[in-house]
Amino acid sequence: MEVVTVTDRLRDGYDVVVVGGGAAGLNGALMLARARRSVVVVDAGQPRNAPAAGVHGLLAREGISPAELLERGRAEVRYYGGHVVTGEVAGAVRDGDEFVVTLAGGASVRARRLLVTTGVVDELPDVPGLRDRWGRDVVHCPYCHGWEIRDQAIGVLATGPMAVHQALLFRQLSDDVTLFSHTTPPAGEEAAQLAARGVRVIDGEVAALVIAEDRIAGVRLTDGTVVGREALVVAPRMTVRAAFLDGLGLRPAEHPAGVGEHIPSDATGRTDVPGVWVAGNATDLMAQVGASAAGGAAAGAQINADLIAEETRQAVAAHSGVNA
Ligand SMILES: Cc1cc2nc3c(=O)[nH]c(=O)nc-3n(C[C@H](O)[C@H](O)[C@H](O)COP(=O)(O)OP(=O)(O)OC[C@H]3O[C@@H](n4cnc5c(N)ncnc54)[C@H](O)[C@@H]3O)c2cc1C
Repeated sequence: MEVVTVTDRLRDGYDVVVVGGGAAGLNGALMLARARRSVVVVDAGQPRNAPAAGVHGLLAREGISPAELLERGRAEVRYYGGHVVTGEVAGAVRDGDEFVVTLAGGASVRARRLLVTTGVVDELPDVPGLRDRWGRDVVHCPYCHGWEIRDQAIGVLATGPMAVHQALLFRQLSDDVTLFSHTTPPAGEEAAQLAARGVRVIDGEVAALVIAEDRIAGVRLTDGTVVGREALVVAPRMTVRAAFLDGLGLRPAEHPAGVGEHIPSDATGRTDVPGVWVAGNATDLMAQVGASAAGGAAAGAQINADLIAEETRQAVAAHSGVNA
């Protein structure tokens, strides 16, 4: 488990409070700190990819451990004067032109703008033995883990609309892919696609994973049959960590792809609630680390521009008052 050293004392108020200190939140804070905004990142320390050994598909940091990436990010934010504190945001309400953000321990902090980057929770299929293997040999994403399990005997557990798509993607990485129809048997066009690409389909429900020497050895069906496999692909349902936004009337919505829920936003991360931006997986369920960081950076820049617009309006009003 990662140990986070807290060196920053929470002040009473900031230009921006960033809720969540993964790739999205830290890159947002980096942009804001470099724009000379006062910014604090409040982070509960549970990034989504924590079980994985390395971050893959990330230019110039390929394979870095998730913990090291975030440690570097926190140092970069602090270098420019941003604060990073460990804590869980429990609530947020509007108070005039500002927000009051409350932490689980009872402390509160004021903010002119909020950037929400709390990521998602992966709800895994309820199959015995599966949760313990998550992020190691139970995987979901070909770009995160596919190279590492190339040429292995790969199973795909069909629990929803992504299963056939996943089977076809992992087929690019191995000639030995088996789809377990479990709760969502493929039919029609999809069954034809799997057959044409040489993906074996096994009917029946999966009862458990078979583990030997800390590795997946196979998949056991409810009829007792064991199918030898080295890795299993699953499609978690993703739920966004957003209960603390209830007081602002900002609630997650079902994602159109049927894979979970997210907080809708425009391309810059602006939500329907004025002053609240969102970035990373909390809004874009498909974003990997690079895209999440990019989303945070874009939102940070937009928040700075929004603050400048507000300050310019105030300056013009004050200036015309002086000259009247
Ligand atoms: C097993 C696995 C492996 C992966 N491998 C890769 C890979 O190899 N390459 C890749 O590019 N992507 C990978 N991903 C995807 C990657 O994890 C996400 O793209 C990335 O974590 C999204 O960043 P984020 O900042 O949006 O959210 P997160 O990284 O999840 O960070 C959110 C942070 O917010 C905090 N938080 C939540 N609620 C609160 C609250 N109320 N108050 C304060 N803090 C809060 C959390 O504790 C967490 O620290 C993987 C995902 C999984 C599940």
